[in-house]
Amino acid sequence: MKFDDLGLDPKTLKAVKEKGYDSPTPIQAKAIPLIQMTRDVVGLAQTGTGKTASFTLPMIDALSGGRAKMRMPRSLVLAPTRELAAQVAENFDDYGKYHKLNKALLVGGESMLEQKKLLEQGVDVLIATPGRLLDLFERGSILLNDIKILVIDEADRMLDMGFIPDIEKIVSLIPPMRQTLLFSATMPNEIKKLTEKFLSNPKHVSVAAAASPAETVEQFLVECAPKAKMDLLHKLLKQEKVKNAFIFLNRKKDIDALSKFLNNKGYAAAGLHGDMVQSKRTETLQNFKDDEITLLVCSDVAARGLDVKGVSHVFNYDVPFSADDYVHRIGRTGRAGSKGRAWMFATKNDEKFMDAIQKLIKRQFEPVEINLKSSDGRQKPSGKSATKPSKSHSDASPAKHKKDAPSQGAQKNAPKNNPKKHHDDDDMGDSFGDDIPAFLR
Ligand code: AMP
Repeated sequence: MKFDDLGLDPKTLKAVKEKGYDSPTPIQAKAIPLIQMTRDVVGLAQTGTGKTASFTLPMIDALSGGRAKMRMPRSLVLAPTRELAAQVAENFDDYGKYHKLNKALLVGGESMLEQKKLLEQGVDVLIATPGRLLDLFERGSILLNDIKILVIDEADRMLDMGFIPDIEKIVSLIPPMRQTLLFSATMPNEIKKLTEKFLSNPKHVSVAAAASPAETVEQFLVECAPKAKMDLLHKLLKQEKVKNAFIFLNRKKDIDALSKFLNNKGYAAAGLHGDMVQSKRTETLQNFKDDEITLLVCSDVAARGLDVKGVSHVFNYDVPFSADDYVHRIGRTGRAGSKGRAWMFATKNDEKFMDAIQKLIKRQFEPVEINLKSSDGRQKPSGKSATKPSKSHSDASPAKHKKDAPSQGAQKNAPKNNPKKHHDDDDMGDSFGDDIPAFLR
């Protein structure tokens, strides 16, 4: 099937083609015709499948005919995190560039005054995180009576983050004569109940993930003492061909310390976590996408859904508390069919969490031995990876560098700014339920 066969508005089609997309992904091919028929839709799909465009494209067409009234948005997309909301907003910008639709992004941590101004101008597409939306509603800055299309994106993540009561409240404020679309990577009972309560005779569509980390991500485990982690990471950064990497930590307070350590070693590293002001979070993520920063030292705020192309590595500097987070974290690499490598550092206190991860992925890790004393960065892992035998990249690059220097890909000028402190949502240790993601089955 081609995009031309979907009956999209020529202006939308032009924008899609300019992105370089000729054929719809499976979720797009299934969901777009149903949404065009104004059906309610439950989409079982993960990020990476093209699900965002599956609702943004028909929404742009549906909304192109009308005009929004002051403070009365015509459509609403609810997303669990600011980064995911921003990604949805980007989709509307990309595909809606030949339409004159007004869009507003309402997320915490950004100026409420600016958001209120946008709402006053009339908004066709409102993209929001639940907390900020309710905040503005309670202040009388927004009316939800004119919403014709409601999208609940990443519903299972909303559940993990405790947003379901907020979602229920928001949906109860929207007139029942609307089209409702709900997307979720898994379908725990609570989400099933939500679909029964809020969707009217929905059509169900589901797809497996486009790329399977099980096939495209090689996974490695190193057992170490907590104090050895920094040196271990440094060693692996030299040893592996690290172009860029997500480095996941469990505690926010450790993020700044590790970023500084890496900056001192000459790496372009920066932290990303929920205590940072939103403008800094957005800037850091953009710098990572633009390759200005090559090592993103982050909390699980970055584990789900973020789509950064061509990330070569993921380091689980800490074993995640939730096995689901492991799967989400390693899914930041090996995307869109490219290869990725995921390393995890486990201490003896992590046994319980390791058991849960191995149970979830239905594989046993064989720890790799890394000799921290050898300085050439050339020793090969002695064990096998969890998925495939390890083909070490140890011949990659370190020989070109002096002892303390990072491999060429990851080394850039260290960023200057340190994140400011700001009290905000706690993004650590999320979980989305007990279901095994389809791509690992
Ligand atoms: P999503 O699942 O919405 O997060 O999208 C994942 C990635 O797929 C994004 O980088 C999209 O730009 C990309 N994408 C969306 N639609 C298509 C398509 N039809 N063909 C190829 N890539 C696509």
